Amino acid sequence: MKRIFVLAVLCIGAALTAHAKLKIVATLPDLGSLAREVGGDKVDVTVLAKPTEDSHFVDARPSFVVQLRDADVLIDGGAELEIGWLPPLLQNARNPKIEVGKPGRVQASQGVRLMNVPTNATRAAGDVHALGNPHFVVDPIIAKTVALHIAQTFSAIDAPNAAAYDANYKKFEAAINAKLQEWGTAMLPFKGQNVVAYHDSWVYFAHRFGLNIDTFLEPKPGIPPSPSHLAEVIEKMKAQKIKAIIVEPFHDRKIAEKVATSTGAKVVDFAQYPGGLPNTDSYVKLIDRLVANLTAALK
Ligand SMILES: [Zn+2]
Repeated sequence: MKRIFVLAVLCIGAALTAHAKLKIVATLPDLGSLAREVGGDKVDVTVLAKPTEDSHFVDARPSFVVQLRDADVLIDGGAELEIGWLPPLLQNARNPKIEVGKPGRVQASQGVRLMNVPTNATRAAGDVHALGNPHFVVDPIIAKTVALHIAQTFSAIDAPNAAAYDANYKKFEAAINAKLQEWGTAMLPFKGQNVVAYHDSWVYFAHRFGLNIDTFLEPKPGIPPSPSHLAEVIEKMKAQKIKAIIVEPFHDRKIAEKVATSTGAKVVDFAQYPGGLPNTDSYVKLIDRLVANLTAALK
């Protein structure tokens, strides 16, 4: 009798656990957005960085530690984008469930081939891309890979809802596949064009859509523009007749506008993260907006 009682309590406990929503923390808004797509109403997602802030240099708030302490799953980039602020938070949170290698940790870069991996890490010179370029989620095909990784992690931790995570992933995959054609068609007339960016965040986007985005207002990732470097950029832009300069919400737009005035180029508002531009509250809407803004400038 006692044994049956204990079993009953265990069953109720298991049932309660199964119905509780998974607590997900994502370091970055793009990862949070993919977690919401895949997790739907089975998960609560908290995102640490704001979509309009520079994700290399996030102001770590004490509340982040509390969120990390309570998390069932942590999704981070895994390519040192957050190296300046995430490690001390994790140390303080002391949550063994989300350590690297544990089932509750998704490192988005796993299974992604990083571009521009330097032969020697140059972090000492202030370069914030020492491990290779960490801004990979803006490639929609990579976003599918990351979403699948997230879905598999949720399913492993929360098996009773595995079918829902799988269905949500398939819906996201189908939406991206349908959109890839539309985006590709819109970008096709500009294949091979050179575009300037403030920061080196667009190499994966450029690769996907056949652009060259390899000239930057920053002399090195994370190092602010200098007058001598900008003079070189202006010369190059004139020589190559470059028409567009990509800026993100946290960049100094005035610097980009000055360069644009000197070269006849247009400043194009871009963001890596859903919510970084108006009406971009989902991943698909964000890429829609980027394609629309860039094609308008290149026409
Ligand atoms: Zn960067």
